[in-house]
Amino acid sequence: AAKADGRGVHRFFREELLAGAKTRKRLEDDLRQALAADQFHLCYQPVVSTRDEHIIGYEALLRWDHPTRGPISPGEFVPVAEECGLIETIGEWVLRTACREAANWPGGTRVAVNVSPIQFANPALPTVVTSALAASGLSPERLELEITEGVFVNESLHTEGMFATLKRLGVRLALDDFGTGYSSLGYLKKAPFDKIKIDQSFVRGAIAPGNRNAAIIKAIVTLADTLGMETTAEGVEQQDEIALIRDLGCSHIQGFVYGRPARAPEVLTQLSAQGGTAAPVGHKVSRTP
Ligand code: C2E
Ligand code: MG
Ligand code: MG
Ligand code: MG
Repeated sequence: AAKADGRGVHRFFREELLAGAKTRKRLEDDLRQALAADQFHLCYQPVVSTRDEHIIGYEALLRWDHPTRGPISPGEFVPVAEECGLIETIGEWVLRTACREAANWPGGTRVAVNVSPIQFANPALPTVVTSALAASGLSPERLELEITEGVFVNESLHTEGMFATLKRLGVRLALDDFGTGYSSLGYLKKAPFDKIKIDQSFVRGAIAPGNRNAAIIKAIVTLADTLGMETTAEGVEQQDEIALIRDLGCSHIQGFVYGRPARAPEVLTQLSAQGGTAAPVGHKVSRTP
């Protein structure tokens, strides 16, 4: 009986694997159609200054409306796009779309775009960025490229050269999800980041008395300040976390507390509600004279 059970378990796993591979293959096929079929759009999430609670910019987040499955999260399809070689085409679409839409925003409002390590490894990236900027008319200092520690995995002379080339274009560079990977301090020494984004796993629970996350955030902020880099706390959800994050010295907050990712027209509404880039975020902060 034990032997029969063993075979049953084996067959079960094999079928699971095949089913997984088939689902993935189907996702890959669908992903190939998605750009041409206009199934992608970008949502934008506000990044807010802790100093005066003004929106200083937005992060562009890719959304896919699958024709039969409905919305699929980038956490699920971006890794597939990376593996099947589609991320470069999709990533170029993201860059062009984000620059074009952000060019309509008032003043110096920034847009942050996630760049996959696979795009970063391609020597053509600076040309793609230059072309997206030129086509949109967006000035380079308003574009921030978010890069994860994944770019350092196959570290080479290319990596350092790419950072230098991108900085020469005048765009900003942010280290995304800091604290979740190897977080080698050597990365901070080598790469000219303008900002560190502190991963939401450190924000979670930081408010609780005696929680160690607050100390970790403080240490990251101190390091960033010393290196002349800004900091964004990611994933701030609760009103009472705002004061803590501000007191820990973070320059910016991004999280559901200030707004979920929203479509481009909603961004224009939010920005005009705060009077271009110069007034406070009215709907969240009550200011009594
Ligand atoms: P990320 O770059 O770290 O983006 C932040 C993620 O946190 C977003 O998830 C956002 O919706 C979510 N988030 C923001 N505030 C909160 C909060 O208060 N609470 C919680 N629980 N979550 C919050 P999203 O949009 O599902 O994106 C997931 C990841 O997918 C991104 O993480 C990024 O790594 C990747 N991604 C998204 N768009 C693109 C893209 O255009 N290109 C590439 N290469 N990757 C992308
Ligand atoms: Mg990001
Ligand atoms: Mg992040
Ligand atoms: Mg993330």
